[in-house]
Amino acid sequence: MKNLCILGSTGSIGTQTLDIVRAYPDRYSAYALCAHRSIDKLIEQAREFQPEVVCIADESLYEPLKNALADMPVKVWVGADAIAEVVTMPSIDVVVASMVGYAGLRPTIEAIQAGKTIALANKETLVVAGEIICDLAVKHHTPILPVDSEHSAIFQSLVGEDRSEIEKILLTASGGPFRTFSLEQMRSVTAADALKHPNWQMGAKITIDSASMMNKGFEVIEAKWLFGVPVEKVQVLVHPQSIVHSAVQFTDGAIKAQLGAPDMRLPIQYALSFPERLKSDFPRADLFALKDLTFEEPDLKRFPNLGLAYEAMRRGGNIPCVLNAANEVANLAFREGRCGFLQMSDIISETMNKAAFIAKPTYENYVETDKEARKIAESLL
Ligand code: MN
Repeated sequence: MKNLCILGSTGSIGTQTLDIVRAYPDRYSAYALCAHRSIDKLIEQAREFQPEVVCIADESLYEPLKNALADMPVKVWVGADAIAEVVTMPSIDVVVASMVGYAGLRPTIEAIQAGKTIALANKETLVVAGEIICDLAVKHHTPILPVDSEHSAIFQSLVGEDRSEIEKILLTASGGPFRTFSLEQMRSVTAADALKHPNWQMGAKITIDSASMMNKGFEVIEAKWLFGVPVEKVQVLVHPQSIVHSAVQFTDGAIKAQLGAPDMRLPIQYALSFPERLKSDFPRADLFALKDLTFEEPDLKRFPNLGLAYEAMRRGGNIPCVLNAANEVANLAFREGRCGFLQMSDIISETMNKAAFIAKPTYENYVETDKEARKIAESLL
C-alpha cells in the first residue's frame, strides 16, 4: 500500500490520480489532499477518500473547509507553509506534484528533501530550478518519475537502456488548435479559441501554454533535466494525431517509442506503479483505424515561444526562471483578455532581456528572480 499526497488534487491531474486510487484501493491511499481554492471539490474528495489531512492554499477558505468537515476525523490545514509541511509527513510514500506553475516549486523541494518519491506533473518546477531539483534528488536518493505524457513515453522507452546511448530525444507535440493558422489569423484569436485543444482535456493554464507552444518549450527543458541530455539533443516533432507520445533514438540508429490513445491516466498510473504495469480499461489506440501518423517541423515564426525556451537554456542561470514567470503573467493576461495571443511572446522575450542575469542562482535567487520578472512582465502589459 502506497500513501499518496496529491498536490493539486482538484485539478485535472489530481482528479485523474484519484480515479486510479479508486480503481486500486488495495494499492493506493489518498493520505493527503491539497488544493488551491476549489473548496467544494475538495470537500467531496475528502468525504469519498477519507484522507488523514486536507490542505487548502487560500487562507480565506480555512473556516468554511473546517466547518464542512467538522464531523470527520480529518486534519484541516491552510496556507503555503502547511503545504510545504504536509509533503514531509512520515506516512507519505509518494508526492504527486500536480500544482500549477511556480507555486509547485517549494513543496516539491521539501518533498525531495524528505526522501519522498515524486510523481512529477508540475513541469514548471524543472523549468525554474532544474539544477537544484536534480542535485537534491541525487543527494536524497529521491526518484522523480514523470507524469507528463511525453516524458512518460521517453521514460518507458528508456527502461533497460543506458542513458549514455541516447543520440536524440524525439519529443512530439500535437501542434494545438492553431497548428494550421496563419500569423494573420493568430493575431485575433481569443482565449476561448485557444481553450479548444484538439486532443487533450487539461486545465486552462496548460491549455493556453499548449496553444502557444510554450508548453512544448517547457517540455524540452523538462526532458533535459529528467534524462540528462542537452537541449540540442531534444528535437520537437509536430504530430497532430497524438498517438506517438514521444520516442528515443539511440546511437545505433534504433528508435523506441511509446504509443497509445491520448489519456493522461496511463502516464499517471505508470508513475505510481513503476516498475510494474497494472491492468486498465483505458481506451486502446486502434492501429487499424489510424489512417496516417504524420510528423512536421515546428514553425518558430508562428510559435516563437519554442525558440525562447531553447534560448533561455542557452543563456542558462536564472533565465529559464524568468521565462516561466513572464509566461505565467502573459498567460493569465491573455486568459483575462488583457493581452493578445502573439503579444504573449513579445512580453516574455522582452522580460528575458530586461531581467538581471544571475549565473549560479540559489533558491533565494530564484524567489527574487520570479518576483522581479513578474513585475517587469506586468509593466509591459
Ligand atoms: Mn505533455
